[in-house]
Amino acid sequence: MPSLRFIQRLGFIPVFLFLLLIAGCGSGTEGNGVVATTTLAADLASTLLPPTVPVVSIIGTGVDPHTFEARSGTIRQLHTAKLVVHHGLHLEGRLSELLAGLQKRSPNRVCCLADPILAEHPHLLRREGDEIDPHIWFSPRLWSLTIPELSRKLAETYPAHAETIFRNAGLAMESLDRLDRELRETLSVIPERSRVLVTSHDAFGYWGMEYGFEVLPIQGISTATEVAESSLRKLADIIRVRKIPAGFVESSVSPRTIEKLRQMLGNQVFELGGELYSDSLGAPGTAEANHAGMLRHNAALMAKALGQPRP
Ligand SMILES: [Zn+2]
Repeated sequence: MPSLRFIQRLGFIPVFLFLLLIAGCGSGTEGNGVVATTTLAADLASTLLPPTVPVVSIIGTGVDPHTFEARSGTIRQLHTAKLVVHHGLHLEGRLSELLAGLQKRSPNRVCCLADPILAEHPHLLRREGDEIDPHIWFSPRLWSLTIPELSRKLAETYPAHAETIFRNAGLAMESLDRLDRELRETLSVIPERSRVLVTSHDAFGYWGMEYGFEVLPIQGISTATEVAESSLRKLADIIRVRKIPAGFVESSVSPRTIEKLRQMLGNQVFELGGELYSDSLGAPGTAEANHAGMLRHNAALMAKALGQPRP
């Protein structure tokens, strides 16, 4: 089977013909459900749908979406899905072009979660140079803004379930509101001067905006580039001067760089505050296997590492 890069080099029309060809070779059992790119997108779609509708994610638990490489099976899954749900804003780095192509050809069969925010609330999005930060699930408020369009597309795809989908959408938006209040309460033990997050990559910008944290990431909003030694030294200096007590590793990013940073700091007390979930949910069956559980886990770790005990 040709690699994705090879297929992409062939250009738009041959790729479409290729997809038709492999769809014809498929077993036909994969076209019955919703195919989401990440575990987060799958979780959101599952929350809105009745449990009888299958939802799968193609980028598995703990896998980094920025560097995920598609295989031929992935392309087939995307092509045969009833609805494809993806984040957009280049979160799915190497899949982005393929997803944009699918969306252009079959707009009713693809839902890009970021699109309604880009269209109606662009001022709420963080920009880093030419890039827009795709990690919108870290703001329950922004995540909630993706629900009306997703529920509309799901209801169009499954008209028999439309009533359930719209009812679940309302409940999900209320839950996100409650979650936001709960997170603020958990984080309230962290004094303002300690609200600094040293993390593996820049996934927590929206979290920082919502909950008043300064974010000092080792890598940028994508993990696709290597970290320069000089950037690590600069960050180590900031941590030393500001006496930041702890940093965090992330479940979908290698802990190598943050360990290197700890070595650089020598005797300075710079603890590992634990593993935050960033671009993937926790393993199935755990409390972190859904969006609310993941955010609760992160808030609790931050409160433990950076907070002061309640009087
Ligand atoms: Zn990320």
